[in-house]
Amino acid sequence: MPRVENWIGGAWIASTSDAATEVINPATGRVIAQCPAGTKEDVAAAVAAAAAVYPTWRRTPPQERIQYLFKLRGLLMAHLDEVARTLVEENGKTFAEARAELARGLENIEVACGIPTLMQGYNLEDVASGIDEMMIRQPLGVVTCITPFNFPGMIPLWFLPYAIACGNTLIVKPSERVPLTMVRLAELIAQTGIPKGVVNVVNGGREVVDALLDHPEIKAVSFVGSTPVARHVYARGAAGGKRVQCQGGAKNHVVVMPDADLEMTTKIVSDSAFGCAGQRCLAVSVAVTVGEARDSFREAMAATASRIKVGDGLAEGTQMGPVITRASRERILTCIDQGLKGGAKAVIDGRGIETSADGYFVGPTVLEGNMESSDLATTEIFGPVLTLTPARDLDEAIAMIARNPYGNAASIFTTSGVSARKFRYEVPTGNVGVNIGIAAPMAYFPFSGWKDSFLGVLHGQGRDAVEFYTDKKVVVERWPSEWSRRF
Ligand code: NAD
Repeated sequence: MPRVENWIGGAWIASTSDAATEVINPATGRVIAQCPAGTKEDVAAAVAAAAAVYPTWRRTPPQERIQYLFKLRGLLMAHLDEVARTLVEENGKTFAEARAELARGLENIEVACGIPTLMQGYNLEDVASGIDEMMIRQPLGVVTCITPFNFPGMIPLWFLPYAIACGNTLIVKPSERVPLTMVRLAELIAQTGIPKGVVNVVNGGREVVDALLDHPEIKAVSFVGSTPVARHVYARGAAGGKRVQCQGGAKNHVVVMPDADLEMTTKIVSDSAFGCAGQRCLAVSVAVTVGEARDSFREAMAATASRIKVGDGLAEGTQMGPVITRASRERILTCIDQGLKGGAKAVIDGRGIETSADGYFVGPTVLEGNMESSDLATTEIFGPVLTLTPARDLDEAIAMIARNPYGNAASIFTTSGVSARKFRYEVPTGNVGVNIGIAAPMAYFPFSGWKDSFLGVLHGQGRDAVEFYTDKKVVVERWPSEWSRRF
C-alpha cells in the first residue's frame, strides 16, 4: 500500500510519524493509500527548507518568479486528465467535475502571473517640498495553507500561485483524506525547475496543523474547512502573531420567485444542490420558494432530481458520485431522518439508493417543510440534500437568510430587475448569485464569505490575495535640491 511522503526542500521524504490514516476511494470503499499522521518534526523540516530559500526567492525578480507559474500552467494542462483521474479516485466526484475543478485552479495560476503589475505599490512626489513618499509591497516570508477534502486540486491553487509569485515560500498541508492530488501537483511543480524549498508539502492531520500554527517562523496562514476548525486555526494562529484568513462552512440559500424561468431555475438549482454530491461550500442547501413558486418548483425539482444518475465518478454517464466517507454518509442519513421526524416531507428520498458501485452513496434527496426551527435549517449537511421552504414574499425570504449563522452565498432566481436588485442590496452573504446556482467568484475577484463562513479581513484570490501575501512598507525620502550644488 503506497504511503504518501512529504515534499520538503525539493525531495520526497518519509514522515517521521509511524501513525497513518487510510485514503479510501469513496466509490468503492477500497483503501488506495496511507497518509501519515505527521509530526512537529516534519513541520520543522519543511519550515527550515522554506526559510533557507526565502532570501534568494524574494530577491528573484517577479517577472522571473512567474515563469515557473507559466510552466506549471502548461504542465497542468498537459496532465489535466491524469490529475483529474487521481482526484476522482480519492474524492469521489465525477471526472467532469474534477476537470472543472482543475480549470478553476488554472485560472488562479493565470491571475497570479500578473504579479509584476498586481504587486506594484504607489507613490507621490512632493508630499512636502522636496519630499517624496512611496508604498512598496514586500513578501512576508514563510507562509502556509491548510486545505479541505472537497477540492483537493483547486483549493491549494487558491493560495499557492499568489503566495509564491509575491515572493513568499510556502508549505501546503492537504486534507489527510485526499493527499494524492497534491502529490501529483507537487510532481508537476518540481518539473518546472522552481528552486527547491519554495513550495513544500507536509501531510497529516491535527498535529501538523497545530505545529504550523505554533511555528514562530510562519508568518501567515490560509485555511479552508469547517467553521469549528476555522475558529481554532484563527485563534491559535492569531495568538502567535500571524496573519490569518479562514474560510469556513456554509448553509446556502436560493430564493425562487414566482416569476423565475422554471426550466432554467430547476436545472441550475439541481446542479447546485447535487453537483459534487452536495459537498461544495457554495452548494445550495435550502431553496426558499416564494408564493406560487412553491408547487411548480417542487414538481419540477422532483422530476429533475429523480433522473440524476449516481455512481462511480469514473464510470461513463455518472452525474453524481459518492460522499467522502462512511461516517459522512451516516451523518447525512441521520440529518435526513431528523428532518423527517421534525415534520419535513420527503419529496425525493435518497436514503435507499442502489448503485452498481459499492461505496458511500446517498441519492439526491429533496425535503419540504418550514424547517426554520429545526436543525435542518442551520446545520451544514454537506451532502446531496435540498430542503424546500416556503416564504410569503421576498422580504420574508431575505429575513430567513439573514437569520442563518452562515454567510457564504445566496442566489435569487427571478426575471424581475427590481427583485434582483433588492436581493443583491439586502442579502447578508459575501457571494451573491442572480440566476446563478454556484456564485463562485472568478480568480480575479475575492472569494468573499461573510459571518460564520469567514474569519479574517482579506479573502482568497485576486487582489485580496496579493494584499494578504504582502506587507506594505511606506518610505518617505528627502533629497534637498541644494545638495546637488554641494555634492
Ligand atoms: P475540516 O475542517 O474537517 O478539515 C480542514 C483541514 O483542517 C484539513 O486539512 C484537516 O486536516 C484540518 N483539521 C481537521 N480537524 C482539525 C482539528 N481539530 N485541528 C486542526 N486541524 C484540523 O474540513 P473538511 O471536512 O475537510 O472540508 C469540508 C468543510 O470545508 C465544509 O465545512 C465546507 O463548507 C468547508 N469549505 C469551505 C470553503 C469556503 O470557501 N468557505 C470551501 C471548501 C470547503
